[in-house]
Amino acid sequence: MPKINIKEMGLYIHLPYCVHRCIYCDFNVTVLSREEELSWYLKVLQKEILFYAQTYPDKIIDTLFLGGGTPSLFSEQHISDLISFICKHFKTASSLEISLEANPCSATLVKLKGFKEGGVTRVSFGIQTFHPKHLKTLQRSHSQEEALLAYQLAREAGFDNINLDLIFGIPHQSVQEFQEDVRRAISLGPEHLSTYHLSVPQNNPLYPILPLEEVSADMYEWVMDFLPSQGYGHYEVSAFAKPSFQCAHNLKYWKLQDYLGLGVGASSYVTTPQMPWGHHFKNTGSLHVYGEKVQVEGSAKGQEEILTKEQAQKEYLLTQLRLTEGVSFEAYEERFGVSLMKSYGSVVDKLLTWGLLDSSEKVLKLNHRGSLTLNKVLVEFM
Ligand code: SF4
Repeated sequence: MPKINIKEMGLYIHLPYCVHRCIYCDFNVTVLSREEELSWYLKVLQKEILFYAQTYPDKIIDTLFLGGGTPSLFSEQHISDLISFICKHFKTASSLEISLEANPCSATLVKLKGFKEGGVTRVSFGIQTFHPKHLKTLQRSHSQEEALLAYQLAREAGFDNINLDLIFGIPHQSVQEFQEDVRRAISLGPEHLSTYHLSVPQNNPLYPILPLEEVSADMYEWVMDFLPSQGYGHYEVSAFAKPSFQCAHNLKYWKLQDYLGLGVGASSYVTTPQMPWGHHFKNTGSLHVYGEKVQVEGSAKGQEEILTKEQAQKEYLLTQLRLTEGVSFEAYEERFGVSLMKSYGSVVDKLLTWGLLDSSEKVLKLNHRGSLTLNKVLVEFM
């Protein structure tokens, strides 16, 4: 039997509404047309929460992530009622981390204070860039001033754990402009920073004007060196944190631990005694179908896949390699009952020869070059 923890579980709640759709967005988003939709959606969510609280009565929720979309479009009362409902129906850990994604435009002091009082412990702002021209390219609805104000208001509301999201590789963005964004962000003193490489499909209008790969690689290489020198540990491909401020919820994805995703289009990975290697399931992506299915059946699964041991091994490796701590040989063997080198020895040897992985006695991890060509590394394990 695998030695994995099947008691604790992260809970992700997808709140899909936004005021408009940004040009680069590939999330499951619905443009809000009427305020009443928010209350309708929360009612549907309550039904789904009840269904899964009964399905997994023994699971203990130790992280809750309210993502979107723009969760901060919901009122402080909505959010605190949602958190109370979850805590009432699921078992929760005493050290529950509750993150909420916010857009600077919809983050007023009253709302932020209400979110804090309602139990939110961590707020994550989608800043993306401070440069007005790049905000315009991305079609973000906030200005640089609104971003700075939202951050101050979050501090005033009492948040001591704030993440800022930045994007690099924006069309016509120079390396220097990205460096200015990062310096500006850390001058505020957030506990956590995420820097994402802009990636869009070929049919997106931004695709033909994306910067050359070498420019984005220069930006990434710089930030990988710079942020750790400023006290932000690089713990995942895109994530940097001050000591003890890593995002516990996101670590569940990268360590292939249990997480339940509720709301339209949300994904889950859950282990049970019957499915010890875990199963993935994903809710239908249509808001209308999601609402109808949950009202009738209590849940709205669209796809489901039970993992074999081999699939779980591969997925564990691919996600864990995103972490700078790498994959521990011992932890792998303890979880799967077989050594990592026995499972993947030939691929590992090849990537070591190519100079994309580093290996010590205890761990296998991406090196600087491997991080820059992550997809190339991952494809070799597929
Ligand atoms: S605010 Fe975020 S989720 Fe909403 S449309 Fe823009 S990128 Fe997508």
